[in-house]
Amino acid sequence: MFVIDKTECIGCGTCYKLCPFDAIGEKEGGEKQVYEINDEMCMECSLCYKACPLRAINWEEGVLKGGGAIV
Ligand code: SF4
Ligand code: SF4
Repeated sequence: MFVIDKTECIGCGTCYKLCPFDAIGEKEGGEKQVYEINDEMCMECSLCYKACPLRAINWEEGVLKGGGAIV
């Protein structure tokens, strides 16, 4: 599964706008916008993971839902 590291994330919203499955939600976060990936909705396409300018989205070990692995 993909997980946003909230300490690295600057709240730019790139992943949120990009996700084709609306799997990234906005949350109230005080100083900065906080985003969170809903694992049930996430299809693990990896678009957000590749696009994050801060590399704040981490892949947690395992096999992708569609098969295969992240390289
Ligand atoms: S693209 Fe990266 S830095 Fe921007 S909101 Fe998403 S996780 Fe945060
Ligand atoms: S991996 Fe794909 S489906 Fe999952 S949150 Fe990122 S962009 Fe959305």
